[in-house]
Amino acid sequence: AKGAAMVTAVAYRLTEQARQIQQTMEEFRLSKEQLLEVKKRMRVEIERGLKKSSHQEATVKMLPTFVRRTPDGTENGDFLALDLGGTNFRVLLVKIRSGKKRSVEMHNKIYAIPIEVMQGTGEELFDHIVHCISDFLDYMGMKSARLPLGFTFSFPCHQTSLDAGILVTWTKGFKATDCEGENVVELLRDAIKRKEEFELDVVAIVNDTVGTMMTCAYEEPNCEVGLIAGTGSNACYMEETKNIEIVEGNEGRMCVNMEWGAFGDNGCLDDIRTTYDQSVDENSLNEGKQRFEKMCSGMYLGEIVRQILLDLTKRGFLFRGQISEALKTRGIFETKFLSQIESDRLALLQVRAILQQLGLDSTCDDSIIVKEVCGTVSRRAAQICGAGMAAVVDKIRENRSLEHLTSQWEWTARSTSCTLSKERTSWEGKGGHSFFSRIFHQTVKDLARNVTSTSCCRRTAAGREPLS
Ligand code: BGC
Ligand code: MG
Repeated sequence: AKGAAMVTAVAYRLTEQARQIQQTMEEFRLSKEQLLEVKKRMRVEIERGLKKSSHQEATVKMLPTFVRRTPDGTENGDFLALDLGGTNFRVLLVKIRSGKKRSVEMHNKIYAIPIEVMQGTGEELFDHIVHCISDFLDYMGMKSARLPLGFTFSFPCHQTSLDAGILVTWTKGFKATDCEGENVVELLRDAIKRKEEFELDVVAIVNDTVGTMMTCAYEEPNCEVGLIAGTGSNACYMEETKNIEIVEGNEGRMCVNMEWGAFGDNGCLDDIRTTYDQSVDENSLNEGKQRFEKMCSGMYLGEIVRQILLDLTKRGFLFRGQISEALKTRGIFETKFLSQIESDRLALLQVRAILQQLGLDSTCDDSIIVKEVCGTVSRRAAQICGAGMAAVVDKIRENRSLEHLTSQWEWTARSTSCTLSKERTSWEGKGGHSFFSRIFHQTVKDLARNVTSTSCCRRTAAGREPLS
């Protein structure tokens, strides 16, 4: 009788444990009503950012970009391009030829930005950037060309023209001093002058969302939305100029850099933020800021997972209750591992191998739980991004007084652009982000009003293929 009682007790502990794990996961599972609520709140913040009277305090800044149209194929010439703001810094030479035989030729080099430079002084940061440009120009043999330069700068900037951008605040892993409140184009020009090696004409500064939208628009004229689901998260779209109250004029459209990463900074998402989200925020470089971004972008998803695993381990549900050094290490769970683990095809043995690599000794049960945690965190990220995007496409549909809109998405790694049209639709995706993109698309479809889609594709070098 005693043995039977013990068996019952053990069984009870196991079900109780499973129940508690599920309860933890439950906080990350958002119902359709909750997602509709996220979409509704995003819409409220969009309006606040656009209106002159509320723009100052608005969290979703809706920054004007002074990009009034997308490319149309008449562009021609050689350009230098910089891409700063993600995990890598890139310098590119782009040769664009218009006319009957349109062509785009690109050469690029990737440079690392050491953490001491990202978080040192502004001067050091810009000197480093110019040092990389110098290396690239040597490599291309173009030091004397005085090329026009476009600067993709993936941080919030107040723009008053295409070639001026005052940094509002650093985000993600950057916090170089003396840059916030400054015109970054001038900081770059000053650094080029200091170097005294070559000349460049800085002609434009654009957010990465805007660059993504424009790249796609070069081939798809109706492409009017850009989304980045990368290290950070953000979106842009073509808004009616008359709705952007801080910009003069009522004619035509202008691309708006939403800066939706800051959605929730006024507390409007507190009811869906978990204690794990709060811990990630507290450990970040910019506490209290970019709350939406911290729930859905690459720089933070692994940390959310780690916080959950830490808690489950403390409660004795994982890793035999042993908190390893690895588990205590910030940033150990790179998003790369997360997407590997969440991949549907990856067997549990491989999950264990990945955990092993991270120095986490797991049992088979552990790996089942870890896999579920990763899937749940990723799903919520894709869903809230989809909810935000549903607010955007609704807004565009209303702007154009359309009863109905169709959309077509093209994924390039984690950046996305959306082509809108009144007739046909297909969703497109690319790369290893099929889990994220699938759920993202599904959510937009579920939540946007009168926006349809018919297929889901990815683009490879060879062309387009369906994303099943
Ligand atoms: C920045 C945005 C950027 C996004 C994606 C965010 O942290 O504030 O400007 O577009 O990251 O890179
Ligand atoms: Mg980028």
